[in-house]
Amino acid sequence: MRYHLLTLGCAKNTVDSMRLEQALRGGRHVAVDAPEDADLLVVNTCGFIDAAKAESIEVVRELQASRRVDQRLYVVGCMTQIARDELIEAVPGVDATYGVEAWDAIAADIGPASASFDIPDASPGLLGGGAPSAYLKISDGCDRPCTFCIIPSIKGRMHSMEADRLLAEARWHAATGVRELVLVAQDSTAYGEDHDAPDSLAPLLERLSAAVPEVPWIRLMYAYPGRVTPRLAETMARLPNVVPYVDMPLQHGSDAVLRRMKRPSLRVARRSLELLRAAMPDVTLRTTFIVGFPGETDAEFEELLAFVEAERFDHLGAFTYSPQPGTPAALDPGQVPTAVKEERYARLMELGQRLSLEANRAQVGRELDVLVESREPTTSRGGGPVSVGRTLRDAPEVDGLALLKGSYAAGSMVRARVDGALHYDLLCSPLEAAPALAAAAGPRRARRRIR
Ligand code: SF4
Repeated sequence: MRYHLLTLGCAKNTVDSMRLEQALRGGRHVAVDAPEDADLLVVNTCGFIDAAKAESIEVVRELQASRRVDQRLYVVGCMTQIARDELIEAVPGVDATYGVEAWDAIAADIGPASASFDIPDASPGLLGGGAPSAYLKISDGCDRPCTFCIIPSIKGRMHSMEADRLLAEARWHAATGVRELVLVAQDSTAYGEDHDAPDSLAPLLERLSAAVPEVPWIRLMYAYPGRVTPRLAETMARLPNVVPYVDMPLQHGSDAVLRRMKRPSLRVARRSLELLRAAMPDVTLRTTFIVGFPGETDAEFEELLAFVEAERFDHLGAFTYSPQPGTPAALDPGQVPTAVKEERYARLMELGQRLSLEANRAQVGRELDVLVESREPTTSRGGGPVSVGRTLRDAPEVDGLALLKGSYAAGSMVRARVDGALHYDLLCSPLEAAPALAAAAGPRRARRRIR
């Protein structure tokens, strides 16, 4: 059977889709890029916030409206785990729904492919999606008590993946030509806590770094404030292929709001930031905030802006708060009007954009490696070819880009000088001549991203 898989939501969902693909490939089914070429359409949904649910419904509705009668449509993942009825009501007629971590059950439901299909067991293009970066999910689920978050209800208790399995996955990615491994989890710094082994992220990084020395970038996402230990910061600084980059969602910059969110205080967050900056003076810091949390006053929002200004994050993402049924914050009577939330969101993003531009301007004149992601160069205003990639300061899909003069194959790591800065992106010139551009191989993984 030919399947077309569409992945919505976050990086963790991307890894879940890879698990589903492994199960489907075990049945010798074949991925296709275009929905019209598929016998089976699968949407791996996101249900994290209202906007994610709305996007999931819209995507499923589009596929339902355009599919042929001989095409099956399966809807799986977070939204169907927590709001299956809502989806079915909005889009009646889908063939099957599954929640999270039901990958083997889905493959069993579909059954093996007919014998007429014969695909290689380990085609790097198929398995790796042809992308130079890959996600490695080191744990799933979450034990934290954040009052706005539905994730623990969707994913359950935190459970760490076995280190040996992660090393094997990392080696496999390296063998397929992956140049960047991005470590994801709901809370990456909790790794090992479910086995009474706190502070296990540092030894995991050591083992990963040694297992795949040919992978130049290993990147850490989703650290929890207060869980960055001196050992973790020192280990990151020491390992040559762990990049000095940390994503630490902080959610707010007012202690009163953080208390209502049941999140760590600003003192705790600052201590983690200080540890990282002391160990890695050039560390790139990304964070995420929620605006319009119930009861957020003008003064509390101003505290958030002042905190962001003081900490000067390199990259900043934001959400407007949306109440999730089943969470304590959804019952709070102090819901903030939508117009106020949107106005605060715009002000925060404007500040984040200015700080991002200032951080980018500070890079001008520096020499950095650019990991090329584009399969074909685009064209500059002057008519010359431009390859699109990233420096180690930017995580895939959420941060900025590096626009590199010249034609380079996807997966190339090119030494370059930063010539200019845009709000989110860097303009770069190569310090080495471009080789003849080889055709990039491998199908694209069908995916959409909302945050
Ligand atoms: S730490 Fe993250 S995933 Fe866990 S409950 Fe809080 S917001 Fe949700």
